[in-house]
Parts: sequence; structure tokens; C-alpha cells
Amino acid sequence: MKTVRPYRPETLAVHAGRGIDCASGAITPAIHMSTTFERDPDGGFSRDLIYGRTANPNRTQLEAALSAMEGGAEAACFASGMAAVSAILQALKPGEHVLLPDDIYYGVGAVAESVFARWGLRHSRVDMTDPKQITAAVTSDTRMIWVETPSNPNLAITDLRTVRKIADEHGLLVAVDGTWTTPILQRPIAYGADLVMHSTTKYIAGHSDVTGGVVITRDADLPIFQTIRTIQKEAGAVPSPFDCWLASRGLMSLPVRIRAQCQTAAHLADWLAEHPNVERVLYPGRRDHPGFSVATEQMDHPGAMLSFTVTGGEAAAMRVQAGVDLITRATSLGGTHTLIEHRASIEGEATRAAPGLLRLAVGLEHVEDLKTDLQAALTAA
Ligand SMILES: *Cc1c(COP(=O)(O)O)cnc(C)c1O
Repeated sequence: MKTVRPYRPETLAVHAGRGIDCASGAITPAIHMSTTFERDPDGGFSRDLIYGRTANPNRTQLEAALSAMEGGAEAACFASGMAAVSAILQALKPGEHVLLPDDIYYGVGAVAESVFARWGLRHSRVDMTDPKQITAAVTSDTRMIWVETPSNPNLAITDLRTVRKIADEHGLLVAVDGTWTTPILQRPIAYGADLVMHSTTKYIAGHSDVTGGVVITRDADLPIFQTIRTIQKEAGAVPSPFDCWLASRGLMSLPVRIRAQCQTAAHLADWLAEHPNVERVLYPGRRDHPGFSVATEQMDHPGAMLSFTVTGGEAAAMRVQAGVDLITRATSLGGTHTLIEHRASIEGEATRAAPGLLRLAVGLEHVEDLKTDLQAALTAA
């Protein structure tokens, strides 16, 4: 891509950060496995490449593409989503305090407890759908509000504008876990977020074959982002060149994949809501969802993730997940395969998931085949 235009997401996904290889004319980038790069005779590094941990062409390319798609200034890629989360938390100081949502990706809550609490970083969990609770939890040591919307696994919707307003009143940073929405469905920087984090393992790479993460900043000069960049280069939880290449390949089809997945999810949500063996569907695209209006305002589409509770509680839910044939019983999301998961039994005691809740991560199969599979499993249960 030679010229910089305000390209649309589909176009950016294919072209941002990528170019024709000048030596060969290849449209697909080479995978640069080299861990070291030649220094100029005068001692300089005119190519800006020194050593594989500090920078790699495949990583730089993925960072440029993700930052362009998110409407950010710069990005730092990591070896996993949790490495990206950890870099953000490590960029805060011991003694400081962060507000986390009560309904949150299990791993973020776990690392805050198991690693960062020991390191002196304190946190409180609050219901981010209630502005009063957020304000009430702010202390003089609070530095950051962490947002995940829709949340996991209950699909609670947090109003990004409200969080920005509260953060401004108290001089706080706002970081958003954008894994579930990707830049295609929601762009938090446009709503005032300072940092957006993704597990690229999910929709961005999109084929359940890469583990990766990224932090994108709205402003390259933000001190916290500079610290995150230092953590990336010096602590070194960096992704491999091949993983960056795979994520970058996956990214090209993200807009069309997610559109198809969203369409199927919206259809399944309405169909499940009418099913006699289903108690409740949690999907922010449905009018009966408490976050419907905020979701409609800040998201381009309510997404491809949904949860539902089965009549008959945990035992019935376990029978439903045992009864699927096409749908795969597995954790994770954002890949080609539709996955079903009983969250309460994997999360253990600290879970916020109802005993009868099943989470569905909709993949790329035909909606009618998925319905037939769910129908059989629900009937048998
Ligand atoms: C998967 C996930 C993460 C963690 O990412 P990994 O790549 O598994 O380390 C963080 N947040 C959300 C919402 C996720 O779905």
C-alpha cells in the first residue's frame, strides 16, 4: 500500500502494513526467521533492525496493520493475549490500583490475583455496567479502569463513553480488552480508550492455530505505552516470526469471517430464545438484553459470541454439551469451528457463570447445520 487514504476496514485488513516484496515481487511477505540483522559500516542500523527480540519484520508488519485497523498510533505484539495483559499491568507500579470488571475474562482476574497482587499492584472488581459503582471504587492510588465489553461469559455491556468520563474526572487511564469485538465491531479508541488489547489467538488470527496478543495505543507518546514497548523488547514475551505471519494472514479475512459469524450468531440467538428447553439467551443484539441500547450505540454489530442457560440447571447443561455432534466441546473462540463450553465447571468456585450456562462461540459452519445439531442436543437433554 503506497498511498495513505482513509481506507475502510476490509481494505486495511488486506493492505495495511503489507507491501510487494521489492526483491522478488511476491505479494505474500517472506517469513524472516533471522534473529540478527547486519549493522551498517558506520555503526548505524539504517533498516531499524538489530536483533530478533527487539524487532522483526513480520512483527513490525503485524503491528502496523493492527494499529491501522484499530485507529491507533502504534501497536506492540506479544506471545499471547495474557502476555499483552501482563505488560499493561506491569507498566503500572506496585502500590497502584486498577479497577477490573466483576465479569471478566478468567485469565485476567487470575493473573491480577496470582501474580500482580504479590507484586503490590492492587485491584478492585466492580460492576462496570453501573457508573456509581465505578466512581465509588476509585481511590487516590487508582491509575486505570480496565474494560471488557461484552464481558465474559455473561455478555454485560459497559458504556465506553461513561467510563471515559469517569476516568477524566479522576485522571485515570482506560484500557479495553477488545478480543471479543475486534476492530471490526467496536473501536474503543474512538470512544476515548488509551489502550486496546487483543488476544490475537481468537478472531484476528482466526483459525485456532496461533497464540498471540497485542496492545494498541491511541498516542505513541503516552508514557504507559512507552513502558509497554520497553517491557516487550526487554522482558521479551515476543511472538515468533511465523506466528506473526500467520496472524497477519488471518487478519486479511477477518472482516468477512466475522460478518458471517455475526450473522449466524444473531440468528441462533433468536432461535435459541424461542426454544422450550432454553431458559434465557444472553446476546446484546436482543432487545431483552439490559445492554441492548448501549451495544447498539457503540458496536457495529452485537457479535458472534452468545451464552444461554438451559432449563434444568447444570445437569441439563452438561447433557446438552455432551449431546452435540458437529459443534466442538472446547474453550476459546474466534476460529472456524463453532465451540460450546460449560463455563462454570472450567472456571471453578470463583465463576460468575450460572450453573446452567453454556457459551457458544460461533464459527463458520452453515447456520442450519448448527441449528440441527443444537436441536438434537437440546431435545435429548
Ligand atoms: C483469550 C482471551 C484472553 C487471553 O489471551 P491468550 O491469547 O489466551 O493469552 C484475554 N481476554 C479475552 C477476552 C480472551 O478471550
